[in-house]
Amino acid sequence: MSPKSGRRAPLAIRSLLDAAQTTPRCATSDTDGVAIRNAVSVPLRDGQLASFVSFTGLAPGAEHFALRFGDLDVDSVPLVRLHSECITGDVFGSLRCDCGQQLQQAVDMMQSAGGVLLYLRQEGRGIGLAAKLDAYRLQDTGLDTFAANRALDLPEDARDYGCGAAMLKAMNVRRIRLLSNNPDKAVQLARCGIQVVERRSTGTYLTAHNRAYLKAKAEISGHSLVGLNESSEAGRPAVAG
Ligand SMILES: [Zn+2]
Repeated sequence: MSPKSGRRAPLAIRSLLDAAQTTPRCATSDTDGVAIRNAVSVPLRDGQLASFVSFTGLAPGAEHFALRFGDLDVDSVPLVRLHSECITGDVFGSLRCDCGQQLQQAVDMMQSAGGVLLYLRQEGRGIGLAAKLDAYRLQDTGLDTFAANRALDLPEDARDYGCGAAMLKAMNVRRIRLLSNNPDKAVQLARCGIQVVERRSTGTYLTAHNRAYLKAKAEISGHSLVGLNESSEAGRPAVAG
């Protein structure tokens, strides 16, 4: 029960979260049994081809997928981004967060340099879209993105990157250059046997609508957001990563 709201998360959400939280962040067995199901070339809007890769062996209902850009030979150390689903940002360009801009930057970089984008279906830092919108409503009353989740009796961050490690291993990728501002991703991947040779930050996409969100990510969850206090045009990086 939340002391602030007196509300509990719906039962279905709670059982999913309980299951996620009782699963080790990355036991070796997390990566066993994950294999490529299919890989299909898909032309993207700017004429580049990406190979969309689906998998078997992921947790039930976890329809994560990967986009491969260019050829991945055995010795390559590809640029990799683990991108957690954000329908509002990724599809509709919401300026409440920076997800859409980060996703586009990753695709742009990989189209020229090659790489692997893991698209992980863990919307709203793992709480789902409906709960994310509940949290947005609380954020509009002044709570930051983490406090809003706590007020709903939900975890601040329920994402798990062990599945990403399993997907990389299924594609024979063991060494990566990680594109991320989130230090927790590198830690979780290393724990799962993925060698992070380098971590590159993305740009800091500051808008009038996401300043408080980005500030909370930097101060509370330790994201490296260069230039956060600088002014920038809406949706353009204050500093390119
Ligand atoms: Zn977002």
